[in-house]
Amino acid sequence: MEKNCIFCKIVTGDSEVEKIYEDDLIIAFLDISPINPGHILVIPKEHTASPASLTEETSGRIFYVASRLGLAFKKALDADGFNLHLSDGSCAGQTVPHAHLHVVPRYTDDAFHWNWRKLPHNEDNSELIDKIKSKLKLSSIR
Ligand code: AMP
Ligand code: ZN
Repeated sequence: MEKNCIFCKIVTGDSEVEKIYEDDLIIAFLDISPINPGHILVIPKEHTASPASLTEETSGRIFYVASRLGLAFKKALDADGFNLHLSDGSCAGQTVPHAHLHVVPRYTDDAFHWNWRKLPHNEDNSELIDKIKSKLKLSSIR
């Protein structure tokens, strides 16, 4: 636990939230400033800013529960779909340095758009691919 972390305070119960789900590894609760009503954050109980520090079990639990919450949005809120969104680093838009996956119910006409740019396709990506692969460590995968 990190003393000054707002999400750690939620994990310990020192800060109140509208909780949706909790188990041994994770908690899910309503985002205080939702994109659409029902917008949920799924967080690990363990304090870490980056999801890359989480075990495969915890990462998997977060993704599994988030996907099920998305399905619940469709059935309970008549959502047409959902977004799973995670920011690692302030440059990526992360404002709370305790890893969290956003689960956002989406509607055909909800007038929300990700500000997603599309650079032109690069013809030769071999160096780029080699660089990334040379640093990709997946030690927990058997
Ligand atoms: P991000 O910008 O990806 O780091 O997302 C942080 C999210 O946490 C924002 O959507 C905030 O609205 C949300 N948030 C911050 N504090 C709280 C809180 N006490 N309870 C619920 N959601 C929060
Ligand atoms: Zn924390």
